[in-house]
Amino acid sequence: MIRLNDRTFDVFLSEEEVLQQVRHLGVQLSRDYEGKELIFLAILNGSFMFASDLLKQISIPCEISFVKMSSYSGTNSRGEVNELLGINSDIRGKHVVIIEDIVDSGLTVDKIHSLLGVHGAASVKVCTLLFKPDAFLGKCKPDYIGFPISNAFVVGYGLDYNEKGRNLSAIYQLKES
Ligand code: 5GP
Repeated sequence: MIRLNDRTFDVFLSEEEVLQQVRHLGVQLSRDYEGKELIFLAILNGSFMFASDLLKQISIPCEISFVKMSSYSGTNSRGEVNELLGINSDIRGKHVVIIEDIVDSGLTVDKIHSLLGVHGAASVKVCTLLFKPDAFLGKCKPDYIGFPISNAFVVGYGLDYNEKGRNLSAIYQLKES
């Protein structure tokens, strides 16, 4: 059990369980993208730990870019504009795999997908460590999933609670008070 700010969390997935599944995903991706021009786009901040462990398991040549979604308000009629910061590689004609820590409603991944559309990728797929199927409202269902989980709030292994907990090597679930 751990405490972050005002909340208590119980272990949900141990470091060993996470790493075993990350290895499986790495093997699967290396097989599926053999012979293809592959670029991973890891979405910061949450995916930094997952991306680091996953990419060590990729046994084929690939490129890696770390990107960040920014949203700022007041510049269009809907009041919000999204931008993908940090795409410094040319992705035209390349096969893109987005690395996410968690897909919840799926709206973030949908936005990234539409922002990537203009860059002319050969294909775009999504690899997420955690997926909440009961919360999902999006169009782009993840293609590679580490663990489908319930709707409970989780932290650790890159995921935060008010910016705390990202450094934890296991994944913890909010304890009901
Ligand atoms: P979306 O709803 O667009 O799929 O997810 C948006 C973001 O919400 C995720 O990238 C993640 O930062 C955050 N999020 C969703 N569920 C959780 C959760 O259980 N724990 C934490 N720490 N963040 C979450």
